Amino acid sequence: MEQRVVGSHTVRRIVESEGPFAPVGFILPGADAARIEAAAHWLRPGHVSEDQQLVMSFQSYVLDTGRQRILVDACVGNDKERPLRPGWHRQLFGWLEALRAAGLQPQDIDVVCCTHLHADHVGWNTCLRNGRWVPTFPRARYVFARREYAHWEAEHRAALAQERPAPNHGSFADSVLPVMDAGQAVLVDDGHELDTGVWLEPAPGHTPGTVMLHARSGAGHAVFSGDILHSPVQLLDPGWNSRFCEDPVQAAATRRRLVESVADTDTLLLPAHFAGSVGGRVVGDGPAWRWDAR
Ligand SMILES: [Zn+2]
Repeated sequence: MEQRVVGSHTVRRIVESEGPFAPVGFILPGADAARIEAAAHWLRPGHVSEDQQLVMSFQSYVLDTGRQRILVDACVGNDKERPLRPGWHRQLFGWLEALRAAGLQPQDIDVVCCTHLHADHVGWNTCLRNGRWVPTFPRARYVFARREYAHWEAEHRAALAQERPAPNHGSFADSVLPVMDAGQAVLVDDGHELDTGVWLEPAPGHTPGTVMLHARSGAGHAVFSGDILHSPVQLLDPGWNSRFCEDPVQAAATRRRLVESVADTDTLLLPAHFAGSVGGRVVGDGPAWRWDAR
């Protein structure tokens, strides 16, 4: 099932890659192996492999409100120079083919919304054409949270001035700035509404300007939560940060607030890296929670 209905909206999932990614203890350094083992009946094999790798998806979602098609997060992308991350370096993923298989062409996308500006969320913002990075979606306006943009712009400029390696593997330069230069970027403030009942909420911690995207339609409610959670494993303890969370205290607080707000409700949660389904629901499980992808 690669599509869900939320009120009068639909959500489709566009997968770039999916499978065992790295050891659980590497991505989630604080995670307790014994508690993961005790939850193996629902975590394995879909989210934790037999050899203790975290199963992750790199995926985008397309929210179709009937008025606009909003692409949420843009994966790693093709042809990017990522020498320090071999799995992302000069890749030729079939993501555009997956988009077409979902019935969509790049020109069908009205809005691109990046929950944050890490390299695995901005890649398809641009593609390489005649040696230049150009926006992949010719008609789209690209929505970036102003706080997030300002943070990475400052990091980018500081790295240039000090001749340090560029932040985020250089993705600000090849996947964000070209969109700005093309005049297709819109920097937005807290609470920005993209469409009726579709708005951004600040969710800092993983990065300073991370946002989540809410979509309400009729009785339906969906939350696109980016990397606030990387894996259903974190439902065992929302205090378990990923190694990529910039502010651990704030990231854990944001994660717990999100989990508590959606648990045991009909809210469809759509994290950027949960494998195997177009989101799912968080349900209480004793003192913690578990993932229900039905
Ligand atoms: Zn990510």
